[in-house]
Amino acid sequence: MRPSLPIGSICSVRKSRSGKYRDTPNASRRNERLDKISREEVLEAVKAARAAGVQGLTAETGTLVKLPISSDWVAYLVDEEYDATDIASLTAAEISGRERAWCYLEAIRRIAGCEKAFIASTGPVIGTRESRHINAHYQLKQEDVLNGAKFDDVIALGAWAVEYHARAGAGSIWRSIKDNQTFDIPLRSLQCVDTPNLFAAGRTIDGDQYAGSSVRVMGTAFATGHAAGVAAANFCRTKSIDTRAVQNELVKQGALIP
Ligand SMILES: Cc1cc2nc3c(=O)[nH]c(=O)nc-3n(C[C@H](O)[C@H](O)[C@H](O)COP(=O)(O)OP(=O)(O)OC[C@H]3O[C@@H](n4cnc5c(N)ncnc54)[C@H](O)[C@@H]3O)c2cc1C
Repeated sequence: MRPSLPIGSICSVRKSRSGKYRDTPNASRRNERLDKISREEVLEAVKAARAAGVQGLTAETGTLVKLPISSDWVAYLVDEEYDATDIASLTAAEISGRERAWCYLEAIRRIAGCEKAFIASTGPVIGTRESRHINAHYQLKQEDVLNGAKFDDVIALGAWAVEYHARAGAGSIWRSIKDNQTFDIPLRSLQCVDTPNLFAAGRTIDGDQYAGSSVRVMGTAFATGHAAGVAAANFCRTKSIDTRAVQNELVKQGALIP
């Protein structure tokens, strides 16, 4: 296994309601003022709070999404740099992330009409975008993603751009796939190089950090998970890997491969 520096985010601070909350269905928690707040207004408030000396506001940008029906917001603002292979580092990041969620709440409460905003929930654990990858027969490269590479042993398609989060507090690096096409993910990137009956799936398949930042997304993770299962079943029967049989079985089961 090859460790790599992961960048993770704790999700999510929610901004909500202004004092009218009762434990009733979401629709009755609508608040006109909160419905009209824009993402820019929240980010401006973060900037202003930072300038005013509120601590812990390292990121001035992030994903902010207003949820339908209620006046709740989901905010991906707090991110941490840590080593997910080191439990002490992981724990420190989780503690820091939870503390900083309260700093962002303080910034949000400075927006007129949001004085009584509160955190409705945060993620149960810190979310890690990237950590270990398996050492497989082929390491998927960033160029494969960007050039829409084709492989004879394709078992899944990737369609997400390179979305690399380089460090905490910085925006992500986006690099699109050529002509907005797909790229092939080869079976060789799933099969462990020295343990032939071990197949990786999701974000653990073999890829460099940039390729990893594309294949980790959920749709692609479902596809490689499907392929890993079919390949493992094939290996159990034959004690070797028959690529064509794995591909045929995947197609039979409805997988999208060329
Ligand atoms: C902040 C953040 C935002 C993201 N946003 C998006 C997004 O908008 N869209 C998107 O598509 N993707 C997004 N992702 C990426 C995506 O969520 C993950 O990369 C993806 O879920 C990884 O899937 P996986 O199957 O590889 O791993 P996981 O979903 O982590 O699944 C691994 C599973 O294995 C279990 N497990 C671990 N150890 C053991 C063990 N020893 N025994 C048994 N079970 C075990 C875990 O409990 C877990 O359920 C985001 C990730 C982060 C961190």
